[in-house]
Amino acid sequence: MSDENRCTSCGITLIGLRNTVFPCPECGVTTINRCKRCRDQGEAYECSECGFRGP
Ligand SMILES: [Zn+2]
Ligand SMILES: [Zn+2]
Repeated sequence: MSDENRCTSCGITLIGLRNTVFPCPECGVTTINRCKRCRDQGEAYECSECGFRGP
């Protein structure tokens, strides 16, 4: 099962929602997925590759 379609912050499966997907601003290796809820609430995410944390 791939992690590509899971929110990096809360782990919810992203299906047809208004999500934000972008490469890690620090290392650019991993893809950060954020669901609408986490984006709206400013939940933190952590890059699994470099450990970068961001809002
Ligand atoms: Zn989320
Ligand atoms: Zn990173």
